[in-house]
Amino acid sequence: MVFTSVEFWVVCDKSAIHITDILSGYDISISVDLLQSLVLSSRFQLTRLACIERYLREYQDRSRYDGNGIFTDFGNKNSFSVRYFGRSKVMQNINEAITKRIHKERAEKIAELHQKQEDYIKLIYLASQIECKYENILVDRNSGIRESHYFPQCHRCQLKNQANSIHITVHE
Ligand SMILES: [Zn+2]
Repeated sequence: MVFTSVEFWVVCDKSAIHITDILSGYDISISVDLLQSLVLSSRFQLTRLACIERYLREYQDRSRYDGNGIFTDFGNKNSFSVRYFGRSKVMQNINEAITKRIHKERAEKIAELHQKQEDYIKLIYLASQIECKYENILVDRNSGIRESHYFPQCHRCQLKNQANSIHITVHE
């Protein structure tokens, strides 16, 4: 199983290097020692094993970049992802499109924030210019006693509620 997997990996690796030769300069972190403990019975298998070992040794010999290997290095100037990005116009175009979209969305969000801040200040100002509304309601017909009750549709409170309901979603 290990033998077949490594052999299959060699075929895939050759194909990947054909697509992007940058791969060939990295330590693949597969040791030749891994194959030393395999018990192989036929001459055919031993021949295949020799091919795999030769391929892995050649790989180690042409490894040019220091680090922990292609699968673990990330973000430094010699890491595979950074070098691949540097050579890929497609990736650079995608990055540029994403960056432009983010800047546009951020500018729109800032404009939305300023507009909502203005709306809030305006509503609070309008509310500050008027008083809450109360109604004099007749509570006793015989005595003619009236009481002051809060008017539910008070315009001042509506303005304050409207101001307090303004919200903005976070831009991420
Ligand atoms: Zn009110």
